[in-house]
Amino acid sequence: MTKLVILGAQESGVGAARLALQRGYDVFVSDAGVIKASYRDQLMAIGVEFEEGGHSASRVLAADEIVKSPGIPDTASLVVAAREQDIPVISEIELAYRYCKGTIVAITGSNGKTTTTLLTHHIMAKAGLDVAVGGNVGNSFAALVAERDHAYYVLEVSSFQLDGVRDFHPHIAMLLNITPDHLDRYDHRMERYVASKFRIGMNQGHQDHFIHCADDPVIAEGLSHHPIKAQRWPFSIERTVPLGAHLKDEHILITTNRSTFTMSIIELALQGKHNVYNSMAAGIATRVLDLRKEVVRESLSDFQNVEHRLEHVAIVHGVEFINDSKATNVNSTWYALESMDKPVIWVAGGQDKGNDYKALQDLVRNKVKAIICLGVDNEKLHKAFGDLGIPMSDASSAEQAVRAAFDQAEAGDVVLLSPACASFDLFEDYNDRGRRFKAAVKGL
Ligand code: ADP
Repeated sequence: MTKLVILGAQESGVGAARLALQRGYDVFVSDAGVIKASYRDQLMAIGVEFEEGGHSASRVLAADEIVKSPGIPDTASLVVAAREQDIPVISEIELAYRYCKGTIVAITGSNGKTTTTLLTHHIMAKAGLDVAVGGNVGNSFAALVAERDHAYYVLEVSSFQLDGVRDFHPHIAMLLNITPDHLDRYDHRMERYVASKFRIGMNQGHQDHFIHCADDPVIAEGLSHHPIKAQRWPFSIERTVPLGAHLKDEHILITTNRSTFTMSIIELALQGKHNVYNSMAAGIATRVLDLRKEVVRESLSDFQNVEHRLEHVAIVHGVEFINDSKATNVNSTWYALESMDKPVIWVAGGQDKGNDYKALQDLVRNKVKAIICLGVDNEKLHKAFGDLGIPMSDASSAEQAVRAAFDQAEAGDVVLLSPACASFDLFEDYNDRGRRFKAAVKGL
């Protein structure tokens, strides 16, 4: 029996345990921290052996193979020790891939993964396909495969998950964009982060499809270092492409070998420039799968936006509140500000990830009338925007931030929570931050 050790008992670890047990591995789960009650219950229900609050090194290093949670860095001492002993360390999506016979659509990028994953799934489900959705969002890939093999999988995959793949091979891969994020896990070397993203296409062959943004200079540069055998489908809002997607007269045009699909951007459920990209990517994938144009059109226009992504909360005395708590890096906030057409009271800040705010300065100067800094340490924001002559104030809770924003707003303004930072200084996670923001707005 193959001895499989799973490091980390969260969504991916528990999914991997379930699948591995089912497939006859000798499984042991080890978590350095406290396992969340819901995951502990699941481990007990499937009857797998596990430990928490520390790893038993000798047992872990007796493994034939290790599945590592994407949250654990490669520099963790046990992972280093395992590699030194030539024990293969893979990610849960690699394990799941071994047992999956269905067709995989895998989506990566620095921003827009969840939105595009759910949008693509929405179109495929509406077309009546037997399609499962998960990966880095919702259920893990392993949990989906353990449930039953589906004809299609739409998977969100992160760079950390891609770092642990060897044979993982999607039939359709999407690379949405690459902007600096998580560089702390890549020795602060952008080329290593880029290489990680390109692993999504490394096992693809000529029969496969690689959908990518043609307006992203980092992807363009990456394509020259990372050969892609699959057929390439670029999407662009800046230029015309013969095959793939582009914009013409405020319409999306998606051209496949068979025909051209056209749709006005006004009809898209998801508004904003970034969502034109996301809709193009999902549109190409589903047209490559030859789904009917009417279904693609209807689905792109009736998709329900995902919580915490430019989510409309309420209008209070003429002031609109928007929750974009998931904007945890500068690029996603750039798109949020870019899509605003009313004067903005901007609620920003949190845990800094080595942000460079320069890219936001022009947008802030032109669109923002007040800044509320919502973080424990707001010094960097004050430094970046303090000279623009825009009123700035500090808040240490969502309630304070909403109250301060509302006090400064006039009818016709918008209060936008789009932090450009992680949330862990004041909140459990971005969900908690977004929900508290919404609750504070409802409490006005
Ligand atoms: P991810 O799963 O990659 O984190 P999400 O779909 O959850 O992406 O969106 C994260 C944030 O990025 C949100 O604030 C969202 O409005 C913004 N966003 C969505 N799509 C894009 C895109 N294509 N480019 C830049 N920002 C985007």
